[in-house]
Amino acid sequence: MRVYISADLEGVAGVVSPAQLVSGPAYEEARRWMTAEVAAAVRGAQRAGARQVVVNDAHEAMTNLRLEDLPPGVEVISGKPKALGMMCAIDAGWDLAFLTGCHARQGSGGLLSHSYSASTIARLCLNGREVGELGLNISLALACNVPVGLVTGDAAAVAEALELFPGLRTVAVKTAYGRQAARTLTPGEACSRIEAAAGEAVAAPCQSDEIRHWQPQPPYTLAVDFASPVMADAVSYMPLTRRESPCRITMEQAELPALFRAFQAMLTIAGAVAR
Ligand SMILES: [Zn+2]
Repeated sequence: MRVYISADLEGVAGVVSPAQLVSGPAYEEARRWMTAEVAAAVRGAQRAGARQVVVNDAHEAMTNLRLEDLPPGVEVISGKPKALGMMCAIDAGWDLAFLTGCHARQGSGGLLSHSYSASTIARLCLNGREVGELGLNISLALACNVPVGLVTGDAAAVAEALELFPGLRTVAVKTAYGRQAARTLTPGEACSRIEAAAGEAVAAPCQSDEIRHWQPQPPYTLAVDFASPVMADAVSYMPLTRRESPCRITMEQAELPALFRAFQAMLTIAGAVAR
């Protein structure tokens, strides 16, 4: 059993404030909690028989995990830019994927909600259905024939994932009391629940037809609403894009990994003109 983990930070227990997401003392504490939750998922998977576990650091600079605090035997994909970004290295070679520390999409009521980039992305639709990071990242795993065994994050993120993919195994570690406030589990309790769920996911993965309630079919079309027309101006110079409106760019591809990779380039270009 080979397990792939994509690890974000906003959906980790105890994380409620933007000050915890980028450098500084609050961030140093938050990245310890993030690493502890990932370590719990790794331990759960290993104890249930996973022979290989690789974690993709998937938040901001993608150098958040404290490598010395992870269990022996795990490997980490660290740094950016990297092809497929939050889902770097996902392909058909994995038996199971976990997504940890997840948050809800831009425009939703979830804690610290956004879709890949709060400053540039207003809305994303995949094959006509509104998605955030969870919808797109899980769709990519499924398109690579990798079942998703576990999603952890705040309650709104978990609800968003379950709306698209009923039957997913999930752990909700906090409930939003606003965009920047929540009732949260302690890190220790969150880790206990995540370790148990990760073990169950490896020992008894969800039936594929249970978790594939929604699986977009090729060709894949991504509609991206940018926060400003200048971002769409710059992204429209990419080949194969269509300018649907002042802020909306669409792209169609036969393969979802190719579309996801192009979307990473869109994020980079839009981010460059956002400043
Ligand atoms: Zn993040």
